[in-house]
Amino acid sequence: MSEKIISYNPATNEEIGRVENNSAENVETAVEKSRATFKKWRETSFKERARFIIKAREVILSEMDEIARLISDESGKPVAEAFSAEIAPVLDLMQYFARNAQKILKSEKINIGQLKFLGRSSKIIYQPLGVIGIISPWNFPFSIPLGEVVMGLMVGNTVVLKPSELTPLVGLKIGEIFEKAGLPEDVLQVVTGDGKTGAALVDAGVNKIMFTGSVATGRKIAANAAKTLTPVVLELGGKDPMIIFADANLEAASSAAVWGAFTNSGQACSSVERLYVEESIAGKFTDLVVEKTKRLRQNLGSEDTTDIGAMVSENQLKIVEDHVADFEKSGAKILTGGRRNKDFPGTFFQPTIIAGATNEMRGMREETFGPTLPIAVFATEEKAVELGNDTDFGLTASVWTSDISKGKRIAEKILAGTVTINEVLYTHGIGQTPWGGFKQSGYGRTHGKLGLLELVAPQHIHINRNTLLPDVWWFGYSANAIETFRGFARYFASGSLFQTARLAPQLLKRIKELKRK
Ligand code: NAD
Repeated sequence: MSEKIISYNPATNEEIGRVENNSAENVETAVEKSRATFKKWRETSFKERARFIIKAREVILSEMDEIARLISDESGKPVAEAFSAEIAPVLDLMQYFARNAQKILKSEKINIGQLKFLGRSSKIIYQPLGVIGIISPWNFPFSIPLGEVVMGLMVGNTVVLKPSELTPLVGLKIGEIFEKAGLPEDVLQVVTGDGKTGAALVDAGVNKIMFTGSVATGRKIAANAAKTLTPVVLELGGKDPMIIFADANLEAASSAAVWGAFTNSGQACSSVERLYVEESIAGKFTDLVVEKTKRLRQNLGSEDTTDIGAMVSENQLKIVEDHVADFEKSGAKILTGGRRNKDFPGTFFQPTIIAGATNEMRGMREETFGPTLPIAVFATEEKAVELGNDTDFGLTASVWTSDISKGKRIAEKILAGTVTINEVLYTHGIGQTPWGGFKQSGYGRTHGKLGLLELVAPQHIHINRNTLLPDVWWFGYSANAIETFRGFARYFASGSLFQTARLAPQLLKRIKELKRK
């Protein structure tokens, strides 16, 4: 008998379903089937693939309320956020890639300089990779894997998805949606399971792993994937700074800070995890965020008016308790919140504002992934950039100022994959833009053109339309050949046609020599 994974509602601790904890053999079988199906799927046209994606969109639209409720029940997030941060953005991504994937990947002629005068041309075309293994987290259990599934399928790959063991029912729902959309069997397979199932997918010889999760797991995956030279994209954690200058719109910045820190109970890779505010407005700004935080309504995710739902698990909540305790011990001050909300049976943590934070404190260095907003102050632009960059992570960052050119200047100095000016967090929801990190936040990209390029093999096609003449670098070396190559180094490699013209007599001599042989 195989082991089962039990899925719980973290707000109520009630069981909501059981799924298979798939063995390595099951994963291997899924990958074999996927490989067999790939042969046919790769031959389908973009138009045919887009039809399935659009059909899947229609299925989602017709079951939207039920899907939102499932996402909320399994992850703890408010139903409102299941719509705003998962269903709506992924529907937009689906229409975008269904309509544009072919255009984005159209073949491209390369300018090969003077070689074109010798009858040569080059172009790049994009081939599907084969079987894509997607390993996903629980915090956006619908939009993260579904977006990657859509991109993978659109370019002609088949997909095996391993959803998080904390949100397997949402993972299975993705499979069900495509089944209802009539996608041919095995083009997308969902294999539920825990970390061992994920590891088996990395070992199974897929053509690429798209991983989203923690740095610790990312490291293990990169090491395992190296054994089979399986390429990986790693979308890992963040410790994202928000920098607020005195000239910012403080009303907007304070609302954004509260939302950016506490949406999804702070369990977003791009949550505002560190806030730096210019000294002169620190008091006023802090009062605003405290006041707005106190107004938040914490309740079951299923209630329409809930702002903050449950955290996903007891383990996740313990990390937050640890970080908050460390802040207090290190001399920072809790202005509101600071502990578990015991009004509920599940894993609720009060939204927490912490003043007097410094970069030495644990909660400013390690990913907290919970509803905390630590605030530190700075005096100068240089210091703000230095503090913001003083981290091992580099996923996103935000800069707040009414002077857009100052915002752009600072954005370019921040080492993060995405920097927003007068905005926080939400750009994962813009499917057209690339998403990915610097430093330990990972490598590779998902979404946008750069994300699509991760899912294909660029192939260079080089054509010689002039086979009557031999290539001067072919065998039959001689003093004359060396003189020609010397000329290549001196004139041709200058990139100037005028210079290359000086090589013409020597080239003719060499061609005659080769023809005689
Ligand atoms: P996690 O690393 O614990 O798990 C992610 C997935 O990896 C799960 O499906 C899990 O079963 C699987 N897994 C675990 N061990 C494995 C192994 N040895 N081999 C293969 N797969 C394995 O992460 P999590 O707790 O689910 O998610 C939270 C983390 O994800 C946070 O660090 C967050 O910042 C990060 N995250 C990053 C992004 C991004 O786009 N950069 C987005 C969302 C979440």
